[in-house]
Amino acid sequence: MTSYVSSAISLTHGDSVETVTQALPDRLRAIVGSEHFLQGERMDEYGHDATFMEASPLCAVRPADTEQVAAPNTVATAGAGVITAALDRAANEVDAPNTVATAGAGVITAALDRAANEHGLMYPPDPASIEMSTIGGNVACNSGGMRCIKYGVTADYVIGATVVLADGRVMRLGGKLRKRASGYRLLQLFIGSEGTLGIITEVIVKLVPLPRFRATAMVGFASLEEAGVAVSRSLAAGHFPAAIEILDRGSLELVRDKLPPGFEPHLEAVLIVELDGNDEEFVQLDLMRMVEVLDGVDNRIAQSSLERDKLWDARRSFGKVLMAMPKNFFAEDVAVPIVEVPEMIRRVHELARQTGLRIVTVGHAGDGNLHPTILFTDDQRHLVSHAAAQIFRDALSLGGSVSAEHGLSVSAEHGLGALKRDFAEREHGPIAIELMKQMKATLDPHGILNPHKIFPEQPADDEFLNAMPGWIPDPNRRPRKAELGL
Ligand SMILES: Cc1cc2nc3c(=O)[nH]c(=O)nc-3n(C[C@H](O)[C@H](O)[C@H](O)COP(=O)(O)OP(=O)(O)OC[C@H]3O[C@@H](n4cnc5c(N)ncnc54)[C@H](O)[C@@H]3O)c2cc1C
Repeated sequence: MTSYVSSAISLTHGDSVETVTQALPDRLRAIVGSEHFLQGERMDEYGHDATFMEASPLCAVRPADTEQVAAPNTVATAGAGVITAALDRAANEVDAPNTVATAGAGVITAALDRAANEHGLMYPPDPASIEMSTIGGNVACNSGGMRCIKYGVTADYVIGATVVLADGRVMRLGGKLRKRASGYRLLQLFIGSEGTLGIITEVIVKLVPLPRFRATAMVGFASLEEAGVAVSRSLAAGHFPAAIEILDRGSLELVRDKLPPGFEPHLEAVLIVELDGNDEEFVQLDLMRMVEVLDGVDNRIAQSSLERDKLWDARRSFGKVLMAMPKNFFAEDVAVPIVEVPEMIRRVHELARQTGLRIVTVGHAGDGNLHPTILFTDDQRHLVSHAAAQIFRDALSLGGSVSAEHGLSVSAEHGLGALKRDFAEREHGPIAIELMKQMKATLDPHGILNPHKIFPEQPADDEFLNAMPGWIPDPNRRPRKAELGL
């Protein structure tokens, strides 16, 4: 949970950069108090996120409540980048009879889910970052995760939010009602807006009953095509898994230690499938039937919750392995129609062959959402930008015949940020981008909230990565303790 703050320096209207640089920390400290203010060494973790990008923030604030965010000048002085990591003290409040929960935006999503679990409920969106990302960040990015195929994404659960606008006004949207057909759906506008339209300080989410049983299997395939076809075949046959994840050969090699004994060597792809429900026998039987339809060459069905956790560990540890090599990976987040999953992965493999780069792919196969991840040595760094752009192009060309240009997503769940902003127009088209800019101008006329994010700033060409801060690493920066300790 980190955010960029370098852009905050250019946020106050009318002041010179120099004036702001000198005055900013004092102004913010005065607004939020010393206990919510960070500067100096403690800033280390706020100068980067999980990508390679780096900044040198002047300071950060962790406001205690909405009032501090909305206090005169907090937003105008700081911008969303500095203050999103806040509000973690706001309690999780589970309203079980209404099956909703209210949480401060800084609450870690897993804590929200665990609080719901205590009442026999769950908060379904399940990003792999669930133990470290916040519910506010999830809403800002409309995060997805493993359980989307059955349960949907963050936007499907947010029914209320408190938002501080760029001018400091506090707007409460929605509430605990599950249905509402009145006025524009302004709440939805803020979901996925990546902090460019307002700062979310509190969120109200719907909960669902916690399924009493889960059944999980790992199914291996001798070819990628077979794995991809098996996903479509099982869905078409009426199976409705809570998760169906794919790992290709390269990613299996990365998490080899976590795989069941003797499982991996002969496999080109693996699916991890989970079903859930309240009737243990039915769930287990349904899984067996689905595994039969999947028709893999090697099946491991978890016989206990311990075995289940072990199967999932293989998938979940993928991110941790990447984080242990912080500078030398670039993770993508494309979406293609489900039936194109094997073809997309095949193209990624072909790209790896052509460039000599190691590219491994995991993904939420049931959503067509893939994370091809380029692993590279320092000598190969110059190849990465072109390869990443090629992956976008491949996803684009598989976007489907209905809307050849706009059938893809260059970001299915991570958001555009600064990194992928130049590709936004390819996905949305010029009219939608223009309208989005108008909305941004209406809500944030001075452009102080997360400037330089989501809107294209240069041609979406093969050089896009090479223009990003931190892409050429600074050898003096300390290792990323936070991620290494995951
Ligand atoms: C190992 C790993 C695995 C991941 N797996 C998944 C996955 O499976 N699915 C998925 O969807 N994503 C995944 N992600 C991406 C990321 O974790 C999510 O998008 C998450 O929602 C980000 O939340 P955060 O609290 O870390 O936000 P940050 O990274 O701090 O912020 C993200 C953006 O949201 C803005 N923002 C944050 N909080 C607020 C707020 N309160 N109000 C307004 N704007 C705000 C920030 O300014 C920034 O632009 C993964 C990331 C990692 C590192």
